[in-house]
Amino acid sequence: MVRLLIYIVLLYVIYSLVKRLLLSGPKEKRKKDHAGMISEMVQDPFCKTYIPKNEAYRAIVGGNEMLFCSKECAEKYKEKLKY
Ligand SMILES: [Zn+2]
Repeated sequence: MVRLLIYIVLLYVIYSLVKRLLLSGPKEKRKKDHAGMISEMVQDPFCKTYIPKNEAYRAIVGGNEMLFCSKECAEKYKEKLKY
């Protein structure tokens, strides 16, 4: 009788551990992706301000993709390169 109780407790512990592992897996990954998005900052080569990469304005300058804070900065940067 006591042995049966131990088995039940053991099974419950294993079950809750497996459940926790299954639940924490994808949640942890999502958290990491979110944190990565926030911390990834890029510098505008024209006005030197830092902007989050996902909000930056992308422009091709001299064959390279560059990130700017705004379209104005991208255009001014291109103008600056011409002269
Ligand atoms: Zn700028």
